[in-house]
Amino acid sequence: MKRPDRRAFLAACGAMALCPTLPQAAPMIALPSDIVQNEAATIMAVRTVSPVVAMTFDDGPHPRLTPLLLDMLKARGLRATFYLIGNRVVKWPDIVKRIADEGHEIGNHSWSHPFLSKLGNDAVLSEIDRTTDAIYKVTGRPPVTFRPPYGAFTNKQRQMLYQKRNLPTVLWSVDPQDWRKPGASTVAKRILGGSRPGAIILSHDIHTGTVNAMPGTLDGLHERGYQLGTVSQIMGWPLWQSRSFRRVVKG
Ligand SMILES: [Zn+2]
Repeated sequence: MKRPDRRAFLAACGAMALCPTLPQAAPMIALPSDIVQNEAATIMAVRTVSPVVAMTFDDGPHPRLTPLLLDMLKARGLRATFYLIGNRVVKWPDIVKRIADEGHEIGNHSWSHPFLSKLGNDAVLSEIDRTTDAIYKVTGRPPVTFRPPYGAFTNKQRQMLYQKRNLPTVLWSVDPQDWRKPGASTVAKRILGGSRPGAIILSHDIHTGTVNAMPGTLDGLHERGYQLGTVSQIMGWPLWQSRSFRRVVKG
């Protein structure tokens, strides 16, 4: 019998019960076949004609800027995805709880933001597991996707993470290079200029210029007919808050 390729195999997995070769790590994710992905369970964008995009904010929470950003999103009734650093989650749990309570999604962005591509599997999993545990403790649910710091994560590591923890690696299709602090209007212009249906937009809510760029960016996306969704939403998965999870099995 011909072995199905990994992509077709993953696409066919509607439930963990159908994927006996994947370990029982939480949470279950099936990557649909229309996702832009490669052999390493990586998501950079969603292939769709629907005008949906996902704003993602990395490196928080930030004690001053993240609440400001949450106010902006709330005023517009929008949902975004926050890739949080574990050692900041334990410092500002109230903000983390607010992110979850207001309908946003929280993803895993490692414990201490290292160059993971230089680390071995045990160190990588320790960075990720500590962060998952911290997010779980505050919100009652684990993240369902992982974003590597600097995008520095080898294909082998991505495969390893998906196999051992069932966490797909989420990168991005729009990078405004906001960490270089080019100014709010440039950040907004780059995001609006780069957005396409299914785009995943990278940004960082630890920079004043990025957060200052958001009113113009969010309103500009709306004017262009885009709807904002969380990563789970644009993937067609259930809303992060509504998912029920098995206990994380380590190994
Ligand atoms: Zn980062």
